[in-house]
Amino acid sequence: MLERAFRLGCRFDSWDEQLRMDLWDQALDDTQIASGLEVGRYLGTIPVTAHLPWDHIDIDLEPDFLLKEYRKALKDRLSPPCGKPYKKLLHPSSVAAAEAGHKDKLICYDCGVACDLGGMKEERLFYLRRMNAWTKPVDAAPVARMGDPAVADEPMEGADAAGAPVGARAKRSARTQPPTRIAQGEAYRVRLRYTKLGRVAFLGHLDLVRHLPRIFRRAGVELNYSIGFHPKPELSFGPALGLGIPSLGELLDVKLGEPIAASELARRLQLVTLDGVNWLGGVALGHNDRALGRVIARGEFWARLPAGISARPGVEIAAGAQPITVKRRGEGSGVGRMIDVRRALVSMATPVAGAAETARVCRQLEWDLSGESEGDLVRFHLAVSAEGSAKPIEVIESLWGLDVAAQTSIARVALWGVDADRLIDPLDADSLRQAVSIVPAPPGGPLAAEAVGAIAS
Ligand code: SF4
Repeated sequence: MLERAFRLGCRFDSWDEQLRMDLWDQALDDTQIASGLEVGRYLGTIPVTAHLPWDHIDIDLEPDFLLKEYRKALKDRLSPPCGKPYKKLLHPSSVAAAEAGHKDKLICYDCGVACDLGGMKEERLFYLRRMNAWTKPVDAAPVARMGDPAVADEPMEGADAAGAPVGARAKRSARTQPPTRIAQGEAYRVRLRYTKLGRVAFLGHLDLVRHLPRIFRRAGVELNYSIGFHPKPELSFGPALGLGIPSLGELLDVKLGEPIAASELARRLQLVTLDGVNWLGGVALGHNDRALGRVIARGEFWARLPAGISARPGVEIAAGAQPITVKRRGEGSGVGRMIDVRRALVSMATPVAGAAETARVCRQLEWDLSGESEGDLVRFHLAVSAEGSAKPIEVIESLWGLDVAAQTSIARVALWGVDADRLIDPLDADSLRQAVSIVPAPPGGPLAAEAVGAIAS
């Protein structure tokens, strides 16, 4: 019948304006005449015990399992999730609880899947041990609410002669805090530098953020976790990098649950890392050292222009004082808006040809400069601040045009802190501690001549 309806021209029937009931009626009639089937048998009510045309397909369930569930549903009876211990609402949440209830039967409706219930208990124990969930979290005492009679009877505010809170204020200050789910010892802060090269450059920031804790786990490094309803490893990252842009110097702050020297940590991570994520080194941080987000003020980018494109015109425009506007696409309902790249562009220069640093950066990025098809290099600093920054591709587009930007290779080479006009390596913890003012580079200023000179030298 379906084929007949198709041949008659039925298409996209779920769209009301396309549904042709007259053709379906005709297909039914034709099928009835051709096969002798009683179509009414298929369109009427079918008893739940009836054999259906697809009964022969094995879906790994007992034949009457769905029927029993259907009948239970009609009686408004629930089926608690299977796999949990009988008469328990939750799975055991600690090794101690799981071991204590090891002999408890698990709920199973014998659906036909034939789960290994003993194996399920063992698997839960395995993961609880992996999570160090040895004992049940301590239950908090009930929190006094403002509507409770005991609280309502007290004056809302007040303090005794000594200034100590009394009444409801005292009750509030004495409230038990929510229980911490995991007992953690002292945290040891480390700042690490790593690369993002090759295929990993095409891993989005959020994907990388999800992947890095797994590298720590593979390395057997114990991390500290945030406290709350969704504990997460305490990692903080530098500014996100655009998809497809490689980097020679990404940064990461991590809180460890055990003291490990930064160099040893980098070595252990390197043994189990991803291709393209190379751990270059690190430094131990004190509890009072600034977090990464309060240190990074500049991103240094290098770009390789396409063959035949000179860097000079763009660098000269960057050295001027006029606004450098470019359309940022995809904003404002897809219409885009004009932004002034100069507000974020701190400096731009061409790297010194033949210099050791130029050779090193190009070698690490696998930029072959020996061929005739290779273009000029430029390097530039973009301010990183809470007000946002320009994208490196926008810098190239604003200075050389969209076509050149589409063919330009861009890489982030380093992230910097800034103390006044001095660049500070975020791994140089001593300099950061002595810095007078770590602030993002002031946006909006003209290209600083001395900064260009410093870069070019
Ligand atoms: S066999 Fe497995 S899936 Fe089926 S009811 Fe039992 S525990 Fe649940």
